Formats: sequence, structure tokens, C-alpha cells
Amino acid sequence: MRRSLLPLALLGLFALPMPAAQATALIDDLQGLSKQQVEDSVEFAFGNALFFLFHEAGHMLVSEFNLPVLGREEDAVDTLSTLLLLEADDEVFDTALTDSVDGWTFSAEASEAAEQELPMWDVHALDRQRAFSMVCMMVGKDAEKFKESADNLEFPAERRRQCVGEYLKAHDSWFGVLKPHLRTDGRNNKFTITYKNPTNKELEDYADLTKRRRSWISSPSFSRDSTSWTTASS
Ligand SMILES: [Zn+2]
Repeated sequence: MRRSLLPLALLGLFALPMPAAQATALIDDLQGLSKQQVEDSVEFAFGNALFFLFHEAGHMLVSEFNLPVLGREEDAVDTLSTLLLLEADDEVFDTALTDSVDGWTFSAEASEAAEQELPMWDVHALDRQRAFSMVCMMVGKDAEKFKESADNLEFPAERRRQCVGEYLKAHDSWFGVLKPHLRTDGRNNKFTITYKNPTNKELEDYADLTKRRRSWISSPSFSRDSTSWTTASS
């Protein structure tokens, strides 16, 4: 889906009939926002969701194909998610990248405002580090296109130059280990999507919304050859 069509699709989310009782939490959260702000908020949330979808897909690939992980797996699949979004070379996915960088930054700012202790022991890198790591891959591939994200983080010029080599190394490493698993018959895999009920009642409206509008997951970029793998058993 090109970016020009995205606002229409997102507005469609809110045009879908929804039982009044189910819409309460969602309407509460969106109250006071203009139509444009609602549209921007939904676009931001779906951009971040795309990043997480590919991140979790990375864990799945590591597990299903028994891929080597030389270092922290969470960092590795963050890198894969960033690379897949970059490889799509699609304006929607480029926006998902910049929105995800902003998402990590907002999350870090919220934790700092609440004076939360930084979770140095966590399996994930710190939120700000995740933002910088993503931006490193982004400017490594295209320094001009993602200049604004790097500038927003005050990413040092010398580091941007180093990121070119890091991006190439990460790109060749990830797609090198995935190459034996790529389909060569020109066909795409079929996926069955199963939606589970959210354990948090306040998220029910959002879960319902996601279930009702699945077009964002059927973007053409999902069916490109580069994102189509054979299953471990085939
Ligand atoms: Zn993870």
C-alpha cells in the first residue's frame, strides 16, 4: 500500500460499524483529538506495530531454522526487523521506521519523566539505545533519506559514517543465514492468522479494530520474494 492510500485505509478503520458498548474505551482515548490527529495517531501506532511484527518474526526464524545468534538475540532481531522494513523500499515502511524510532524515544522520555530506574539487566537494550541502533541501520543504508531521524537524535556525524559499514555487515550477515531458507519455486507461503482475546479488557476495542482491518498486513511488500521463506519442515 502506498502512503497516498494509507490515510484512506486508516480513516476506514473508524468508518467500520462498531457496537457502542465495545467502542467506549477507544472513543475515550481518542476524545478531543481532531480527525487529522486521530489519523496520525493510528498511523503512528500501526507503524510501531509493523516493527514489532517483524521483530517477533525474527524470533520465529531463529527458532524455526535454528539460526546461529552471535550476541544478544533481542538486538539481532531488532536489526532484522529494521533491515526488512528498509529492504521493502516502500514509503509506508520508511514511515514505520521513523515512527518506531520516535516510539522508542517517547518511551524513554516517559520512563525518565517517571524517574524509573534504567533496566540495565533486561534482555533488551535500553529504549534510547534501540532508537540509536535503528537509526544507525537507516542512515547506513540511506543517510539523506533518514537524515531527519538522525538529526532529531543528534546522531554524531562520524558515527553516521561508521554505520554504512555496519549496515552492510548486518545486511549480508542476516540475508546470508536466511538464504538457504528462501523459497526458490517462486511461490509464496500461506499464513494463518489467529487472533487471541486480549487479557487486558481495556485493549478489547483495539484488538477488535485490528481484527476488522487487516489490509495493512497484506501490503504487497509482505509477499516479496525477499520475505518469503520455506517452512522448516518443507
Ligand atoms: Zn523480542
